[in-house]
Amino acid sequence: MIQVKNYIGGEFVTLSEDFDDISPLDFSVIAKVPRTRNVDDAVDAAKKAQPMWGALSIEQRCDWLDKIANELENQIEEIARLESMDTGKPHHVALNVDASRSVNNFRFFADFGRNMESQTFEMSDATNYVVRKPIGIVGLISPWNLPLYLLSWKIAPALLMGNSIVAKPSEITPLTAHFLANICSQVGLPAGVLNIVHGYGPEVGQAIVEHPEIKAISFTGGTSTGKIVAATAAPMFKKLSLELGGKNASIVLEDADLDVAVPGVLRASFLNSGQICLCGSRVLLHSSIYDEFMERYLQELKSFEIGPVISDEHRSKVVSYIDLAKQEGGNILAGGNIPDKVGAWIEPTVISGLSHTSRTATEEIFGPVVTVHPFDSDEEAIEMANSTQYGLAGSVWSKRKGREVAEKIDSGMVWVNTWLHRDLRVPFGGVKDSGVGREGGMWSLGFFSEAVNICVMED
Ligand code: NDP
Repeated sequence: MIQVKNYIGGEFVTLSEDFDDISPLDFSVIAKVPRTRNVDDAVDAAKKAQPMWGALSIEQRCDWLDKIANELENQIEEIARLESMDTGKPHHVALNVDASRSVNNFRFFADFGRNMESQTFEMSDATNYVVRKPIGIVGLISPWNLPLYLLSWKIAPALLMGNSIVAKPSEITPLTAHFLANICSQVGLPAGVLNIVHGYGPEVGQAIVEHPEIKAISFTGGTSTGKIVAATAAPMFKKLSLELGGKNASIVLEDADLDVAVPGVLRASFLNSGQICLCGSRVLLHSSIYDEFMERYLQELKSFEIGPVISDEHRSKVVSYIDLAKQEGGNILAGGNIPDKVGAWIEPTVISGLSHTSRTATEEIFGPVVTVHPFDSDEEAIEMANSTQYGLAGSVWSKRKGREVAEKIDSGMVWVNTWLHRDLRVPFGGVKDSGVGREGGMWSLGFFSEAVNICVMED
């Protein structure tokens, strides 16, 4: 049994109140997690540490990010083991997606920081230059689907820009955040620079968002929670970055190379049991290739390995959408059942025959459930893709028209003939109800700093 602890001011702290961390693989209790209700101690520690941390040079902070990356890399198998135990995902996904990308996040921002160029704007009689100052203390809140990957995506740039941090991972997946705290302690990261607190969202998460000394909130999670975060933080004029839900379309045009499109769309449908905000949960198929695509897609699905979903409660939500799909007139082409074994398992499910405006096809399910819809023209596909409240991501599969169609999709990110191919320098984020702001590369550094202009008059 692992005892998860808060990491505050460089110390590991237990609390008198704990709750259970339950494995979705078999519902066993794998850890005890402290139930934190306020963040005053973490904020005090962060406040003490920030002036020293903010006074280091960018190069010195880059060296710290590299130290963390190196130690994470040395223990990459352990990260994968913990992540797989906590989320139920197959080991190869935990290793190749979660663990390796967590290392990359620290490594990338260290390199990016070293190569950051200063900005100047010349006038005929003066020079403007831009100084990027730390914000101070920042609050980072992350979800359960890619626990360390998404938390490190925030921690690395926040540290790089000289901030101190109060971070909260999801209550359901605390193990790798606790592991990261151990790594930071081992490498000797100065006390109080990174503080990690555990507990329930409406308690400790809300306490972070409400705390007046925390000046910026970077939040990744559901759209309904994002509304609460925004409503709480806005009156205090906190900087806000909200990475929220999605209902992304994978669009297969009539000229797609099906050897590429079938495995690509399948991966977009079901990687991580469909629990990635970027997953393509709506498959839009040109009617001329519909039958051939579906035959190959359903065939390849039989050998696609997925884990359980994150919890029994989440599985109930997924099942309720499969029931809704049946009520809405959908045909279950594959899956739809709960396998006869312990754990939060559910078969990957493919549903046809639904209107693209049905609730099943427009609300975020965040599980291994995909709806399939035929279309007859590019215009119709674009209209269908854009017909939800969300606008996070999408993919277009075509030999000739990919870019043209991609530019008409109202989403923050669109891939052409690929999916989840990530360059960490590019803007990441959603439009419409999928979020506010962008992270990634310079966008992350912009969010986690205050850009100040100094205008110097020439003699
Ligand atoms: P939630 O919104 O339920 O939770 C996200 C985080 O917020 C958790 O740490 C949660 O804590 C915390 N939280 C809950 N209530 C509050 C509150 N009142 N104040 C502050 N924090 C709070 O999302 P899930 O964890 O269920 O994650 C799934 C969602 O995340 C999906 O909608 C998915 O699309 C989205 N997502 C978006 C991504 C993007 O980049 N756009 C990437 C990945 C996921 P606790 O767990 O303890 O409740």
